Amino acid sequence: MEEVERCEECGKVLKDKSYEPYCKQCDEKLDKQFDDIEDNILIYKEILDGEIKVLEKFEDTDIKDLFKRVYEKLSREEGGLKEESIVVLNKLKSSFSLKESELGIKELREIREIKKAKPKDQCPECDKKIKEDFNLCPYCGYRLKKDIEINK
Ligand SMILES: [Zn+2]
Ligand SMILES: [Zn+2]
Repeated sequence: MEEVERCEECGKVLKDKSYEPYCKQCDEKLDKQFDDIEDNILIYKEILDGEIKVLEKFEDTDIKDLFKRVYEKLSREEGGLKEESIVVLNKLKSSFSLKESELGIKELREIREIKKAKPKDQCPECDKKIKEDFNLCPYCGYRLKKDIEINK
């Protein structure tokens, strides 16, 4: 019996094998998704878990090239690599076990998330209303001023 190859994405029998392991339609669809993900990283400085899943369908070299392109573009922003850019690059790096040495880039700082700045009259920990000159949050005890020591 002749062995049939099926598209890994939609399961259709592959008549045209030039887009292996996908059919032409799925290959084009995936390429489009890949480009969209690249744009999203650059615009929103974010990569979603669903997008990581899509990228997993691509070759390592595609991912490395993607990383290098977004790294270069993000580095060229005014003021250089921003923290939010480093967060998304770190996520991409760890999701695909990439190494700076293989990518030919400088070691990335270990920033995995950014605590969003809250209004000054709100405790960043428990969100309760506080006075700006408080040292500690009266509700949860969170240290509001970094330069004071607790238990003095
Ligand atoms: Zn298909
Ligand atoms: Zn609090």
